[in-house]
Amino acid sequence: MAVSESPISIYALGGLCEVGKNTYCIESENSLIIIDAGVMFPGADLPGVDYVIPDYSKLKNSRQKVKALFITHGHEDHIGGIPFLLQHLHIPVIYAPRLAILLIKHKLEDMRIREEVKFVEYNGDSVVNIDEFRVTFFQVTHSIPDSYGIVVDTPQGRIVHTGDFKIDLTPVGQKIELSKIAKIGDSGVDLLLSDSTNAEIEGYTPSEKNVLQSIKDIFKIATGRLILSTFSSNISRIQQICEVAVENNRKIAIIGRSMEHAVDAARDFGYIKIPDTSFIPINEINEHKLSEICILCTGSQGEPMAALSRIANGEHKDLRIIPGDTIVFSSSAIPGNGVFIERVVNQLVKKGGNVLVNSILYSVHSSGHPSKQELRIMLHLIHPKYFMPIHGEYRMLKIHGEIAESLGVPKSNVFVMENGDSLILSKHKIITGPHYAADPIYIDSRNVGGTNEAVVKDREIMREDGMITIAVAINSKTSKIIVPPKCITRAFTADDNNIVKKIEDLANKTLTELMTTKPNFATIKSTLKRAIEVYIERKTERKPLVIPVVMDENK
Ligand SMILES: [Zn+2]
Ligand SMILES: [Zn+2]
Repeated sequence: MAVSESPISIYALGGLCEVGKNTYCIESENSLIIIDAGVMFPGADLPGVDYVIPDYSKLKNSRQKVKALFITHGHEDHIGGIPFLLQHLHIPVIYAPRLAILLIKHKLEDMRIREEVKFVEYNGDSVVNIDEFRVTFFQVTHSIPDSYGIVVDTPQGRIVHTGDFKIDLTPVGQKIELSKIAKIGDSGVDLLLSDSTNAEIEGYTPSEKNVLQSIKDIFKIATGRLILSTFSSNISRIQQICEVAVENNRKIAIIGRSMEHAVDAARDFGYIKIPDTSFIPINEINEHKLSEICILCTGSQGEPMAALSRIANGEHKDLRIIPGDTIVFSSSAIPGNGVFIERVVNQLVKKGGNVLVNSILYSVHSSGHPSKQELRIMLHLIHPKYFMPIHGEYRMLKIHGEIAESLGVPKSNVFVMENGDSLILSKHKIITGPHYAADPIYIDSRNVGGTNEAVVKDREIMREDGMITIAVAINSKTSKIIVPPKCITRAFTADDNNIVKKIEDLANKTLTELMTTKPNFATIKSTLKRAIEVYIERKTERKPLVIPVVMDENK
């Protein structure tokens, strides 16, 4: 088959029926390109898990074909999987906008990934030709500068991926290139993949300009110190806060590494244009008047380890809440985080703080994603033949699919899919293809190499079937078991009182046999996990989360 006749397969390994770990693939007979490589943070229901990433085995099996990774923008749910992906296979080149490149580099350094990575910066004018794929870009507005949508032209048809976007006509920062998007639409688009995060919300997402006005109002009325908390990824918001602080003659102190990184990156590229003298170290805040201080920190979701939680419970070494402080939560609650946020708010109020959250009075947050009207505009401009809603929980994808139908995309041409489901594009026609493995992979440590595993943290367990941790220490040099498997169960019940002992025996037997083959860490973990899962399911008909924790004496 000549290259040009090879059908194109399109699928997601992450990003469908969830908000997180976006990983979309476009594959021909000879080449495969990936759009985004995100991670998901598991939240309270997965104790002991630090990250959730896609199963990369499909990509590993096609490793010869993988030609490039394209990044739409620098958010964790689009770049956070890169360190893990690089551990699984060689990515010849990563094309990304400039801010994303910097954030990815920081991430790789932080996680001590030493793989050689070639980065190529792109912008709205770039054209990238990879085998039969021609890739071009259009700028969009989102909550971080340097966000793009991607157009992939293939011999079989044209695919457009919107990236994360909002249609904000008075944005802070870059504009969405609506006329360019209209032109792309008019030249004929076979398949559109579009952001579904806010598909349930009527109307338009409020402009970031409204938030700016509220922030300005708050700066005017606050007489004491101002403490503003947002996501470090919301660089557009951070940019506004810093600028308003300077206008109001307040010095800015930053708490938290990720926030420092974000501000540094944004200043490096001129997104935040503020003199060095406006920034002060947090331990110097007492040298200034209360009304001259603005503190920027993370923790707006009530995350226990983040700066704001530590400030709220009095554990932060440089900052204690005093009456007269105003604390602003400049973000919306991620579902499930409500109780954490509430706890932090209560602690702050008890200490005399005046807490402002997003409300009718103060619009201190606006989403970076498109609501229904904006989705309609995008669908109207692109008017694709086929539509695949992405970046959302199932119900969001479904509603987005219905929106497409209401705008004239035939029902049979709308594909509400799950991770691993594929579409096949051939001669401008699309049919469904095979399903690939795309189960989530739980990472129980920040160390991606599989060594020196962190001990599973004691977190609340909400998962129905509970959790089983099997911890073992080995010496990877001598292939000896140093500490035999120890089983810890959480929220897991079985009629058999001896189940823990039996799991440990099974793990010990499995491991003893396995060690004779000088296995690597990944094999040890997957073999243990599999053996225990099969055993438990047979014995109890339950499917607890099994987390093997392997420590290496040799490290
Ligand atoms: Zn984003
Ligand atoms: Zn996203």
